[in-house]
Amino acid sequence: MTAYKVPLRDMRFLMNEVFDYPAHYQSLPNGEDASPAVVDAILDAAAVYCEEVLAPLNTSGDQEGCHFANGEVSTPRGFKEAYAQFVEGGWQGLSFPAEYGGQALPMSLNLLKSEMMGAANWAFNMYPGLSIGCINTILQFGTDEIKRQYLPKLVAGEWTGTMCLTEPQCGSDLAQVKTLAQPQADGRYLIRGTKIFISSGEHDLTENIVHIVLARLPDAPPGTRGISLFIVPKFLLGSEGGLGLRNAVHCGSIEHKMGIAANATAVLNFEDASAWLIGQPHKGLEAMFTFMNTARIGTAIQGVAHAERSFQGALSYARERRSMRALSGKKEPDQVADALLWHPDVRRMLMTQKAIAEGGRSMIYGAAQLADRMFDAAWSGDKVKHAQFDSELGFYTPILKGFLTEMGLEAANLGVQVYGGHGYIREHGMEQIVRDARIATLYEGTTGIQALDLLGRKVLQGTRGQCIRDFTAKMWSLARPVMFTRGPLGAMGRSLARRALQWNLLTLRLMWKARRDREQVGSASVDYLMYSGYVMMAYFWALQAMRAKALLDSGKGAESSDFYTVKIQTAEFYFQRLLPRADAHARAALADAGALMQIKGDSFSSV
Ligand SMILES: Cc1cc2nc3c(=O)[nH]c(=O)nc-3n(C[C@H](O)[C@H](O)[C@H](O)COP(=O)(O)OP(=O)(O)OC[C@H]3O[C@@H](n4cnc5c(N)ncnc54)[C@H](O)[C@@H]3O)c2cc1C
Repeated sequence: MTAYKVPLRDMRFLMNEVFDYPAHYQSLPNGEDASPAVVDAILDAAAVYCEEVLAPLNTSGDQEGCHFANGEVSTPRGFKEAYAQFVEGGWQGLSFPAEYGGQALPMSLNLLKSEMMGAANWAFNMYPGLSIGCINTILQFGTDEIKRQYLPKLVAGEWTGTMCLTEPQCGSDLAQVKTLAQPQADGRYLIRGTKIFISSGEHDLTENIVHIVLARLPDAPPGTRGISLFIVPKFLLGSEGGLGLRNAVHCGSIEHKMGIAANATAVLNFEDASAWLIGQPHKGLEAMFTFMNTARIGTAIQGVAHAERSFQGALSYARERRSMRALSGKKEPDQVADALLWHPDVRRMLMTQKAIAEGGRSMIYGAAQLADRMFDAAWSGDKVKHAQFDSELGFYTPILKGFLTEMGLEAANLGVQVYGGHGYIREHGMEQIVRDARIATLYEGTTGIQALDLLGRKVLQGTRGQCIRDFTAKMWSLARPVMFTRGPLGAMGRSLARRALQWNLLTLRLMWKARRDREQVGSASVDYLMYSGYVMMAYFWALQAMRAKALLDSGKGAESSDFYTVKIQTAEFYFQRLLPRADAHARAALADAGALMQIKGDSFSSV
């Protein structure tokens, strides 16, 4: 596989020249320390760690996988050492409070670091990655004692955390959770049940693992309202703050998976394991959903990471591999044939990958600023502001998670295609990217579940279309100054204005249709999500193109004129070649649910 290079130029362009992160950080109470010099140093150091330590373990980790024997899991060669370096570098504590040993920097830095680590080695990234949800949950809902006991080790990275939701009978439908928590006289609970598919649920990287577990109290009402949240350490805590007895939670096996082979996906058996309640009884799902937006954006990043990694591999191959002559005549006459890069169809694939990676990255960088504001409100106890930013982020989340993971998979598949048959062969690593990327559309809520969340909960029920009106107002503001001008930016402005109108009309029409036929929401939802993704990405591409043009004209940008020109040209490609797909999704979303629902269940197949 070609060596991974962190796209620092693009990252800095977004941070400094598109989204003005320096000003954003200065507006945050915990942003003072995130000066441009500090942020630069963090990006550089993270890039070195990712390129030199994590990326070289990506192929070997995939080939070797994790091994399970006698309840213990061993991670692939090199992972322990790489994890030790991660801990030593203080990377886990980047965005967590100083009182628990963190560096108290804004949460966005954690998200941005995650793209680099994920592109270098997604399976590795998941070990510290799952801890983030665990730490956030304890920070927000844990008692002072629980915080004191667990956070310093988790924030240091000396222990890792998990999120245990899924059970054999349910993943999307957590109303069916059966794991039981029996209260004890001493304030503990005993947890009994089986959780499956638990990422990083067992491994040899740290001495302890802290599980956050969804379970029911004996008097719990049925459904999602009867679920509580518990903390269950693998090793109980000893009296002196060290490790005590082994808790009754054991790994029964690990899954043999299509991809992310180096991350252990564990079956965990809780056999009256000692547990402590986190937050209010029966309010566990609500508590878990407090940080669901950021966890899901973390998965959206996986789409971007795989698109970038696959693009880098495909581009280098397309420059080296030669095949036939360009349609417009020989481009490299002294060579036996022209490079793949000269063929329009290969360019279509490469440009699609580039547009997905850079367009997706800009969507993440935009949303990450909202995440900073939401966390700031959460830690300072400002419930009103927290709700406001959470709701705004809540609109972006299903679009980012659903759309970017689907697009990341498309980009990864195109990477294989650019390599031709060689893409299908293990040696070049392109097929690994497809296998690793495939999970992203499934976990943290499948694309189908994201789509229902977007159209059903957020757009129709939650805001009656207000979230669309708010976002399309931004599209209008961006479009207005340029839409009557000539050239590519004018065309983008007019297209954005038309899409703003179309998105609102589509939403209204679906609202009316859903009143007449309740199946319409489910039948339209994935097309609506994909439509929304294409249009939202168009906004972020136009934003990048406009900033690039302004910097090109003023000559005040930090980048070369070639960089800005290519930005505008990639945006043009996006508007001309990818955005039109939105029309097909809009038409499909508006089709009656009848054609989906009319075949009787037992007539589906003639076999
Ligand atoms: C590698 C891996 C790692 C994972 N890591 C974790 C983890 O760390 N912690 C954890 O708790 N879980 C984890 N999971 C579980 C993951 O989150 C679930 O697999 C996922 O949420 C889907 O649930 P399910 O597999 O039960 O599928 P189901 O819920 O049975 O869904 C099957 C299909 O039906 C669709 N569907 C279901 N209900 C509806 C509906 N009402 N309307 C329309 N469509 C519907 C879904 O979209 C999907 O296409 C992991 C899974 C894997 C494979």
